[in-house]
Amino acid sequence: MSAPLHTVPEVVTVRAPAKINLHLGVGAPRPDGFHPLTTVYQAVGLYDDLAASDSLSWSVSLTAADYIDPADVPLGGDNIVDRAADLLAAHHGLARLGDVHITKAIPVAGGLAGGSADAAAALVALDRLWGAQTTDEDLLGLAAQLGSDVPFALMGGTALGTGRGELVTTLADHGTWWWVLAPSSAGMSTPEVYRHFDLLFPDASPTPPSADRLLAALESLDPVRLARELHNDLQEPAFDLRPDLEAVIALGEAEGALRGIVSGSGPTCVFLCASADEARAVAAALDGPRQGEGHPVVLVANGPVAGAHVVEYI
Ligand code: ATP
Repeated sequence: MSAPLHTVPEVVTVRAPAKINLHLGVGAPRPDGFHPLTTVYQAVGLYDDLAASDSLSWSVSLTAADYIDPADVPLGGDNIVDRAADLLAAHHGLARLGDVHITKAIPVAGGLAGGSADAAAALVALDRLWGAQTTDEDLLGLAAQLGSDVPFALMGGTALGTGRGELVTTLADHGTWWWVLAPSSAGMSTPEVYRHFDLLFPDASPTPPSADRLLAALESLDPVRLARELHNDLQEPAFDLRPDLEAVIALGEAEGALRGIVSGSGPTCVFLCASADEARAVAAALDGPRQGEGHPVVLVANGPVAGAHVVEYI
């Protein structure tokens, strides 16, 4: 008997990466309240996995890495995965059915867009589970409704983000860049950091700072040059709200990182290193002193890596 051309799976597992912002230029808030951004995203090798299984009901469950407090992830119906499923189901006129299990390694509220990664993973997994065959264009449109970082979580790689970050253009990036990630056990609220940006910079230009220098540095494939051009307009407000972050950056740089910077709205600090070996050495040096000081883990990851992609289809 020949197999049908299009089979619907019983379980689909999708892996989606954390992101860091190599450039985060922020402009004055638009009339709709969003801040215009010129940002360069990079997907790095730290992932959440999301498994969606066939079911006659709907559920979302979670297993988290030991450095993540599972209580920080809402599971009572207001997970971003619930919203992603609602949106996709409504788009196709389908019922929202499935058991979704998130295996979380991306720190929560860390400026690494872990929730956005889960939303992107849910769109891809449920599209396959429901046999919905959503076009890439429609998936990107649904992703943009879920959050500014979600379209990038679908695309991965290195990309330029404009608008409020949801208009994403892939960039050619032939580098392999090595990062140390130092998350913090206390998360930060992205809206609060933006509000603090508005307080600190009431005269911000409506046009966010351009990423041109960063783009040229990426093309040069020179990590020293890239380190010099890393830029984050949310770093000053993040430091103001969390003065401890400045010391983390200083320590990583003293230990040999080319440059440390706050990731997105923080509080994760990310360090660009000259090589994999350098990154491991910086991570080892940061790990000891930070344990017990609200920094539960130090991770090494390289980028760019792929966006949300299927890793199991049964
Ligand atoms: P962003 O910079 O996109 O705001 P972030 O990395 O700082 O992202 P997230 O980990 O995405 O922050 O979490 C932000 C908030 O979203 C959390 O505090 C949590 O209450 C809520 N949330 C909803 N669903 C999820 C999810 N699947 N994973 C993590 N957080 C979630």
